[in-house]
Amino acid sequence: MPDVKGSFQLGSWAYASIMLAMSNSLESPLDRLWKEYGAVFRAWDDLTLARWMAQTLGQIEGRVWRLSHPLLGAYRLAAQLAHDRQIWFKRLATAPSAYLEAECCRAPLLPLFTRDILETGLVCQHCGETCVAYDDMPQELQDGVRQWAKTYGPVHAVAHWDDAQRKRVGDYDSRFEQAATEAEALLAVAGGQIVPKFLDFYPASIWEDQDECLEVRPEDIEV
Ligand SMILES: [Zn+2]
Repeated sequence: MPDVKGSFQLGSWAYASIMLAMSNSLESPLDRLWKEYGAVFRAWDDLTLARWMAQTLGQIEGRVWRLSHPLLGAYRLAAQLAHDRQIWFKRLATAPSAYLEAECCRAPLLPLFTRDILETGLVCQHCGETCVAYDDMPQELQDGVRQWAKTYGPVHAVAHWDDAQRKRVGDYDSRFEQAATEAEALLAVAGGQIVPKFLDFYPASIWEDQDECLEVRPEDIEV
């Protein structure tokens, strides 16, 4: 990494090239893969993109979805591009009427439930920001969500224990495995019992069906 003082002495073109190379190297292989997947949507004009999204929102309405579902993956790619292009401001297509406008970016409200729900609230699929803060969630949902998150927190934390904590349990590997098994069960509760209740308030909802820190994959969670 060039030190900042040195880089000011470079010509602006050279400096820009270095910054670009740095930002590319910061991008993970997975980011690059998703960028490649997203190329199909980048080739579409605004109207085509807006219509596809409005139609897809109609098709996902009325259900709870895994984050890993390919249709939702495709929608998320389109949604992020649409956010960059400010598609929903242009009013090129109308989303199904059941979707309210998200306060964060005024796209249709499509919330994602994650294990960080108490801190980040429900996450917008369009801009990636909080679309509904925990405190702003319907009261009927808050208690169940809080209880779940309070149970999940210590289980997840096992993945981030420091050396002293790991030594204290002796066999950390089996403790990690135990935490992963508990996480699988808790995520199944989230997807099977908690998030379905969201359908009383939102036309469709998504839940994060993985925990990368505990190496829990979507296929490990049976709902
Ligand atoms: Zn948003």
